[in-house]
Amino acid sequence: MSEPRVIFLGGLGRSGTTLLERLLGELPGVVPLGEVVHLWERGVLADEACGCGRAFSVCPFWVRVGDRAFNGWTAMLAERVVALRHRVDRTRRVARIAHADLAEYVRAYRRVYRAAAEAAGARVVIDSSKHASLACCLVEAGVDAQVVQVVREPRAVAHSWSRSVARPEDGQPMTRWTPLRTAVHWNAQNFALEVLARRGAPVTRIRYEDLLAAPEATLTGLAGVLGLTEFRLPFLDGTTAYLTTSHTSSGNPMRFKVGRVELARDDAWRQGLPRHHRGLVAALTWPLRARYGYGRATA
Ligand SMILES: [Zn+2]
Repeated sequence: MSEPRVIFLGGLGRSGTTLLERLLGELPGVVPLGEVVHLWERGVLADEACGCGRAFSVCPFWVRVGDRAFNGWTAMLAERVVALRHRVDRTRRVARIAHADLAEYVRAYRRVYRAAAEAAGARVVIDSSKHASLACCLVEAGVDAQVVQVVREPRAVAHSWSRSVARPEDGQPMTRWTPLRTAVHWNAQNFALEVLARRGAPVTRIRYEDLLAAPEATLTGLAGVLGLTEFRLPFLDGTTAYLTTSHTSSGNPMRFKVGRVELARDDAWRQGLPRHHRGLVAALTWPLRARYGYGRATA
């Protein structure tokens, strides 16, 4: 079987990548894998739950993928990929990713993508790892990857990162960031994806708000750009989606959701994020925020 095409969802966390992955994953011939960048630590080493609810080590999909790709998952393999990641896959390296370990690092991802496509009988895999640095590694190493940059109003993103949410995997609180830190990372990730696009990589940008306001039109436009030919949306009824189980290896709690999902915009940041934080995030993210159509820096 030839190499599958990879749709890589990029952007800062809490920007709607998990929802977009689930929706695209309902298309025929497309299999969503979750955040493959975290598969090594959270899946193989920590044995956290797959999107299907089973532990990674007993999920039949991931067992098949591991057998095909590596003759089975091992801690040694996962530790090796994690070590390579710390050397190669760094945001600060985005401008010039050329590293002796790049080929070995990307080979592990290629094997996962290919084995997952074969196991699912799909031609396209989705990796929602988000990190621009991994997108750069894949593109640099010649993987047939199309990057979808998902952007969301940074004040909404900052509000989401400031809230306390328990991880369904282990009940521990999800990472929280200050609005300052979120603004810095929002800029860094989006700027890095802009650099990647300027270097000629296929990068398509969508806004989370547009996806929620007009799911059918947004997905139809995106599928056209991505060349997804067998395009049908029976799982979508206006702003209601019906999601089936997916074997996402890691990601936002939304990956466990099955059945009816209302696609509704969450503007809680307008009340929930203090005024001085709204102003801070608006000021720090201003140039890119304006470029993405998020308007003036009004609080
Ligand atoms: Zn599973």
